Order: sequence, then structure tokens, then C-alpha cells
Amino acid sequence: MEYISTRDENRRLCAAQAIAAGLSPEGGLFLPEELPSFSPEEIQEMMDMDYQERAALVLSRFLPDFSREELAEYAGKAYASPKFPQSPAPVTSLKSGPHILELFHGPTCAFKDFALQMLPFLLTASLKKTGVQETVVILTATSGDTGKAALEGFADVEGTKIGVFYPDGGTSEMQRLQMVTQSGENVAVFAAAGNFDDAQNGVKKIFTDRTFAEELKQQGFLLSSANSINWGRLVPQVAYYFSAYCDLCKQDHLTFGEKLNVTVPTGNFGNILAAYLAKQCGLPLGKLICASNRNRVLTDFLSTGVYDRNREFYMTTSPSMDILISSNLERLLYLSGGQPLVQRCMEALQQQGKYEVEPEILAQLQETFACGCADDYETAQEIRWTYERDSYLCDPHTAVALHVYEQYTQQTGDSAPVLIASTASPFKFAGTVLEALGHEASPDPFQALEQLSHIAGQPVPEALASLADRPVRFNQVITPANMKAAVTEWLSK
Ligand SMILES: *Cc1c(COP(=O)(O)O)cnc(C)c1O
Repeated sequence: MEYISTRDENRRLCAAQAIAAGLSPEGGLFLPEELPSFSPEEIQEMMDMDYQERAALVLSRFLPDFSREELAEYAGKAYASPKFPQSPAPVTSLKSGPHILELFHGPTCAFKDFALQMLPFLLTASLKKTGVQETVVILTATSGDTGKAALEGFADVEGTKIGVFYPDGGTSEMQRLQMVTQSGENVAVFAAAGNFDDAQNGVKKIFTDRTFAEELKQQGFLLSSANSINWGRLVPQVAYYFSAYCDLCKQDHLTFGEKLNVTVPTGNFGNILAAYLAKQCGLPLGKLICASNRNRVLTDFLSTGVYDRNREFYMTTSPSMDILISSNLERLLYLSGGQPLVQRCMEALQQQGKYEVEPEILAQLQETFACGCADDYETAQEIRWTYERDSYLCDPHTAVALHVYEQYTQQTGDSAPVLIASTASPFKFAGTVLEALGHEASPDPFQALEQLSHIAGQPVPEALASLADRPVRFNQVITPANMKAAVTEWLSK
């Protein structure tokens, strides 16, 4: 199986090369030239496997230059205790009908752990397979969740170092504590003065500085990013849709072969694209329902065919979906209209900040995708209703998905069973959840955790509770102009 770039089909790579490179030099994203296909028998066989085995099987079909044993070893390490103390991706069925795929039982209490626990194994192996000798230095700017997930994934991984920059004062206190208490000999965390864009631009500057890259190479280092467009971050997410389908069949909520709709709270279009890939590979999924918050650029795109980023940006209570450019949508465009469509749309996006797809392409997308959005008020109401109706506590991102799913069933009458991707633990957003439930949240994040635990009668996830006792290891505040110097100093230690 060969990989091609969405912007240059003549660029052919093997899976390891695609993962090692991350982004294609002309700016395209990598995709397998042909998707693997799973027969019903193969999917049925997965029913008797545990999550690690299911993940290794799905990955092996996408990454032929990795052996099944190799992938089983990675999955066994990535998706087991102590990283995932319980079953990694359990499905809980609500009394009112929807099945919730809980993707928040990893070390950072959000679904990015599925990708970022696996990526270090895939990346270090890919570099080895492609003959890279250097220690890989991952640098990433974060507005909150990604930085911590990347730190947890790469901490103490041999042959790697991980440096994270977050905007000073620009994250929640809990997110900051998650990062500055990070353990590991190969990690560094910096607060950068300014906002997220300043930090992001600073990192981009380091990546495009050829002299600096050469200097680092002399010292035995190679820069890389844990960016969400790396194929190695996307492909591990396909596995949990197979796993959920198998679990629902085993629990007799589904008859094998029956269509399962999926609703995904969406930002960068990675998670829902993974569901689309699973469907294209033969998993019996029905409608894929794309749920947005007030930043409804994808709702507008999937209903009108016009993608327009020229609009106001809103900060919402589901911050991980506050995004106006959904990078992974480029992969869907490629799968729908090939390189010419990608070329035309990406040029227009660059020049005018918007593009429009042909009516036939839109019609084709709408056969698979439905969409909708929820504002902060609707999100809060959904948290409260779900708690009252189903005795189930959900986080604001998951609530956006539940709201959009309800809208969808009312509008269409589609009563097929539905899987809701639950992307974060409610405890990660304790303040928002408490207020949605009608309580006043303590400004102290640890007290807010206790409040929520008390009200809901559920223990605080250990990964969050234990932060209170962990020493702060990183308190360096730098200016974006000093980022390069800070990296040099850190690497010379
Ligand atoms: C990143 C994130 C999302 C959005 O996922 P995409 O793959 O970017 O669409 C949704 N919810 C949470 C909690 C996240 O961290």
C-alpha cells in the first residue's frame, strides 16, 4: 500500500515515510492511495478481541510496513495500565437511547490520548525504518489539551525530546497545572508571553529556520511536530469505531450488519474523518453527524457547500472545538474530488479565505454527512437534561454532540441507533458542568472537582486529582523572540 499527498499524487511514500514526514513538502496531507477493506467476517472476529488487539489489527491494515506483532506491542503499551487504567474505550448506553463511546479514560482525560499515546511508537519506529539516526525533538504550541496529551505520550520515550509552549495566562488553571507538573527526563514546558497565535507563530518560525535546523543536526537532533495532520495521529482513531461497533453487537444493542449512526463533536475534522475512514473500509456505519459549537463553519459548509473562514471567532464553553480552519477536511475533499478539487479549494482558501464545492460534490457529501451546531446555552441545557434524564454526566463537547443528534432525529425522523463520541471527561470542565447543573463553581479548580464529585457521586479521575500534590517543575516565562534561545538552552542541558 502506497501513500500519496492530497496535493501531489505523484509523490508516493510508504506508511513509515508518511509518518516520519508529517506534512508533504508542497503542503499536502498524506492518505493511502487505496483504503483497506474489512470483510464482515474479519469484523466479526474482532468481537472476541480486547481493545489492544482490535487496534493492532486495524492499524496493521493501514500500515503494511509495520508487522502485526510490532503493532500489538505498541498497542499493548499505549492502551493499557498505567496510561489507561480501565478498559480504554468503553461504550455506555443511555436510558434515552444513544450509546456513548467514552474516549476520556486516558492520562489526560480527553480523546487525544488515543492518538498521542500511539504516535510516539509509530513515529520513532518510522524514523528508524527510514534510516534517521538523530534524536527527534518534538516542539508544539498548545492552547491547552494537545500539549498535555503530547507530553504524556512522549515523556521518557527513548530517542525523543518534547518541548511545549503555552500562552502565559491563556489556558485554564487545570490545563496549566497538567503541563507544568509533567514528569519525564526528556520534557520541557515554557509559558510564552502573548496569546496562542504568538506561541504558534514562534514555533513555526523555529521550524522554518534552516540554519537552526542545521545547527541542531550537528548536535544530533531532528525537529518534528506532533501536529494533528500527521497520519500517525489520525489512523489510531479509526480503531475505536470498529471497537465500539463490536461492543454494541456483543451487548445485543446491534445486530451485526445493522447501520450505526455516529455523532462527533468536531473541530479540526480529525475524529469524524476517522469515522468516515472506518465506514469506507467496510464498517456498517450510517450517517456521520458533524456537531459544531458556535464556531459553525463546518455546519455551514456541509449545508451549503461554502466553506468560509471570514467570520467572527467565538470563545465557547467547548474550547477544543473553537476553530475556524479544519485542516483534516482537506483529506475528505481529496477522497470526494481528488487532487483537482483540493488544489482549487486550498488555493481559494489561501487567497479569499473561502471556497465552494460543486453541487454534485455537496450532494455526495450530504449522503454520508449530516450536521448541526449548539451554542453555549444549548450546551448547558443539554448537560443538565442528560444528567436529569439519564443520570449521566457529560462534558460540554459531548453535550454539543448530544444536542445536535437530537436536532437531527427531530428533523429527519431517522431512528437508527447512534453512537456519540464523548471526547472529554466532565471533570476536565468541572466549572462549566457545575454551572450547567445550577451550582456555583468554586474558582479553585481542585475544589470545583470535589464539588462535582460530591454532586454526581463519582470519584474525581486520578489523573486530575493527583495534580494537587505534584510539584511544579516548569515556571519559565519567555517572550516569543526568546523561544529559539530557550530551546537551545534546554537541549544543551
Ligand atoms: C480536539 C478535541 C475535539 C475536536 O476533535 P477534532 O478531531 O479536532 O475534530 C473535540 N473535543 C475535545 C475534548 C477535543 O480535545
